[in-house]
Amino acid sequence: MENTAFIALGSNMGNRYDNMVSAIKKLTSHSKIKLVNYSSIYETDPVGYEDQDLFLNMVIEITTELNANELLDRCLTTEFELGRKREIKWGPRTIDLDILTFNQENIETEKLMVPHPRMLERAFVMIPFLEINHDSRLPIKDKPLEAWLNELPDKEGVRIWKRKNGEDEFVPIES
Ligand code: ADP
Ligand code: MG
Repeated sequence: MENTAFIALGSNMGNRYDNMVSAIKKLTSHSKIKLVNYSSIYETDPVGYEDQDLFLNMVIEITTELNANELLDRCLTTEFELGRKREIKWGPRTIDLDILTFNQENIETEKLMVPHPRMLERAFVMIPFLEINHDSRLPIKDKPLEAWLNELPDKEGVRIWKRKNGEDEFVPIES
């Protein structure tokens, strides 16, 4: 069965752009994961633990024959292989991969919560998510997500860094 998932990427250590591109390549080099779409890249002020460098954030859409747990394992392995160390909660990281949605499923296990529980509060997730997800509804909310975004603080902390389809077009993966 083919599943559709949206995944948020974030990086604020080392070469942030290379980290994001490497993560997308690594994630989608699996024969059961295909990249369908990707957002622009945004530069964002850190939230939570503020004494750290600016982040790059983006969201990708994939289709996969993996189930949600297998996809999470793939994300965690990718983070690990790109050298992520878990030290400070919400602190600096070479790459963070969060599953935002998996089809229209609600998943609540110790290891995996989908839709991602903090996504609605984070402008740096919602802005790229809504850029590429025109469905814009979550199984937990029946109100259009644009309405949520309008009410979010910190939107000015999220600035476009590399525009998709812009002059400096980037190609995270050769097809
Ligand atoms: P955060 O992304 O909130 O900064 P971490 O990346 O350090 O925190 O947290 C990773 C842990 O969160 C993983 O070990 C994973 O089991 C758990 N987790 C729960 N739900 C999700 C999800 N939707 N996507 C990714 N990880 C998740
Ligand atoms: Mg994470």
